[in-house]
Amino acid sequence: MTKILKFTVEDVRFPTSKDLTGSDAIHTDPDYSATYVTVYTDDLNLKGYGIAFTIGKGNDIVAECIKYFFPIFENMNLQDIENDIGKLWYKCVDHSQLRWLGPEKGAVHMAVAAIFNCLWDLIAKKNKKPLWRFVAESDPEKILSWLTFKYIEDVLTPDQALKILKESQNDKEIRIDTILKEGYPSYTTAAGWLGYSDEKIVKLCKKYISMGWKHFKVKVGLDLEADVKRLELIRKTIGDDCHIMVDANQQWSVEQSIMHINAYKKFNLLFVEEPTSPDDVLGFVKIKESVGNVKLATGEACGGRVMFKQFLESGSMNVCQIDSCRIGSINEILTVMLMAHKFKVPIFPHAGGVGLCEYVQHLCMIDYVIINGDKNNKFVEYSDQLHEHFIYPCNLKDGNYMPPLDHGYSIEMKENSVKEFSYPNGEYWKNN
Ligand SMILES: [Mg+2]
Repeated sequence: MTKILKFTVEDVRFPTSKDLTGSDAIHTDPDYSATYVTVYTDDLNLKGYGIAFTIGKGNDIVAECIKYFFPIFENMNLQDIENDIGKLWYKCVDHSQLRWLGPEKGAVHMAVAAIFNCLWDLIAKKNKKPLWRFVAESDPEKILSWLTFKYIEDVLTPDQALKILKESQNDKEIRIDTILKEGYPSYTTAAGWLGYSDEKIVKLCKKYISMGWKHFKVKVGLDLEADVKRLELIRKTIGDDCHIMVDANQQWSVEQSIMHINAYKKFNLLFVEEPTSPDDVLGFVKIKESVGNVKLATGEACGGRVMFKQFLESGSMNVCQIDSCRIGSINEILTVMLMAHKFKVPIFPHAGGVGLCEYVQHLCMIDYVIINGDKNNKFVEYSDQLHEHFIYPCNLKDGNYMPPLDHGYSIEMKENSVKEFSYPNGEYWKNN
């Protein structure tokens, strides 16, 4: 029986602020970073890897939080972890002292995400499958045992969740075949970072169109006039057959949101993302009431399933943007996907950053195969940066994420990358 020996965590930071990759109205100089967890077993050929994602400073705080959870798993048998992963998840989330730092949100919850991302990688590898396929091929009852319904049973009960999972069983194999052939559609954020010049944006739009993309997300929020000009430029460059969505990254008040969104209506936007505070459910409701049929997207900064419950039930989240490293890994992501399905709200996972594309490729496949069964007019975020640091980077074909075939959760980094960008003692940071 395979036994867990130990864990390590590295603070890995990439200097993306140098070229303004990732810049938006609020986060003007992100250094995309990962708390990189490794779990070692007594089988030399079996290791697991997981991350939480941050944008630079504070990555060390999440890394420190992660260490508090190591003793819970050290010396356990891997099979016991797999059997009890639902209970173990809640044991970490509901830790009698650490929960004071959340509960179920913030740095301590991101630490849970990192360690469970690592454990799910290990479990998928033990079962010799890519994670999406391991989850998709698990029995509905088993999947249900991974989930926690505490605080959300008023909108989704375990029985309702089980019914959704069971309904997909008959079509599962056909859906797996479809996804293996066609992949899952994506949109790109890579052309529209706020710090980019007009020339760079035009060049990148043309590049991504030639590679098969038709959906483009643009960062907005600092200056209405400049935003409208940039949107006009992008519309002219990509034409009317392509689609635009905008992301204000929490920049506006409720009133400003309404004003800006109404000014953008002529661009026929696919959605407007994070107009205001990611916690302001009632503010989102007011915005939604005032902008008519413009869809509002949010979720990348929602701390946990309870916040998703508020947004979904209020009708103010029209596109659900789960984040693979902010909410508590597969155990909570599945719960949110099931809730969103019940409210008929599509999942557009948040990606970009570092490693997020590698993660969300699994999540969209899971959503399609065992929950939703529909990938029309649904798009997963894609951004073309930092993939070169991963051993199993995501693979896109004509704008579609192709299902990962390697075992695990696709997040193992190249050893040299970890060494070079470890903070503060890696080669890069020692010399810059
Ligand atoms: Mg965003």
